[in-house]
Amino acid sequence: MSGILDNALGAVGNTPLIRLDKVAGEWGLKCNLLAKVEFLSVGGSIKDRIAKAMLEAAEEEGKLIPGESVIIEPTSGNTGIGLAMACAIKGYRCIITLPNKMSLEKEAALRALGAEVVRTPTEAAWDSPESHIGVAHKLQQRIPGGIILDQYRNVNNPLIHELTTGPEIIQAVVATPSTPARPSSKVVDVVVCGAGTGGTITGVSRAMKKAHNKECIMVGVDPKGSILAVPESLNTADEGAQYGVEGIGYDFVPQVLSRDTADVDSWIKTGDEESFAAVGTLMKSEGLLVGGSSGSALSGAQKWFKTEAGQKIAETEGKNVVLIFADGIRNYMSKPWFLEMAMEAKPSELADTIASILKE
Ligand code: PMP
Repeated sequence: MSGILDNALGAVGNTPLIRLDKVAGEWGLKCNLLAKVEFLSVGGSIKDRIAKAMLEAAEEEGKLIPGESVIIEPTSGNTGIGLAMACAIKGYRCIITLPNKMSLEKEAALRALGAEVVRTPTEAAWDSPESHIGVAHKLQQRIPGGIILDQYRNVNNPLIHELTTGPEIIQAVVATPSTPARPSSKVVDVVVCGAGTGGTITGVSRAMKKAHNKECIMVGVDPKGSILAVPESLNTADEGAQYGVEGIGYDFVPQVLSRDTADVDSWIKTGDEESFAAVGTLMKSEGLLVGGSSGSALSGAQKWFKTEAGQKIAETEGKNVVLIFADGIRNYMSKPWFLEMAMEAKPSELADTIASILKE
């Protein structure tokens, strides 16, 4: 990225890869632990990439007319923010259908960007007329100019991760020299990544296995209560469980998610508690203001390092393990899990000093 950008869409993606040395040290890892930090994309998440890609592909196909087309999309919020941002810039109207559990911060951002927001019951099955998907389709049938780009089926979703997210990770790893202090295999050996639509993990897997290192191990992270993990037995243990983490997990398998074991080598299930605790760790140890699903990625990685394949990588100097952190904490600051963690954090030893100075 250099020079003056035409508009905010020029600042989508191109995010940094950041070492998690303190966490790696605490876990006793010999391998490198690295994070692709997507809240640094302009709209605040990894989903900016697909919003821009799906919208521009539809424009190229002649499907959109500024001032007339109405982009309607069911989303857990981040795709919506990317789309609403692109619509504000390009002059389309935008309606986002959003399950109730998604944060107020996402709704506020969407409304501020000029989108209409329709909340839907979280517990509605994906194929029921009340779900965020059902409501989007109903609106699309009735609103003139209504179009659903459909992140669950749109090939541009996985494709943009194959073309940008994956190559950016590869480029950063390849460009960083291996030194005695910081040995590196100079390839991406493992990627750990949450799955919602599955676009990220499927596209990044293609970038890794087809074009970089066919031995790269792809680890998918799926919340307990969701059904995306393979084998199926992983999901049945916590069937029907509710989860508060946003953006990952579904009650159906989106078309863009590859559940082929050649694409995603293994799956780890995570719970809310461990995910939210991991967010706290990332903030305190690494200074990273990441969101809940990033905590799931960290927690999933920690569990994976305890598997046979994970142990081998953990003990090998220079292996590069990349975690994808999809969004930032500013999406969740009003959520009780975050407020409890932040506001009820144990006061440091400085608290007494401050109190006595202020009393003087
Ligand atoms: N984390 C968050 C916070 C998200 O919004 C999403 C997108 N739903 C994901 C992870 C998962 O990304 P994908 O849809 O590409 O699987």
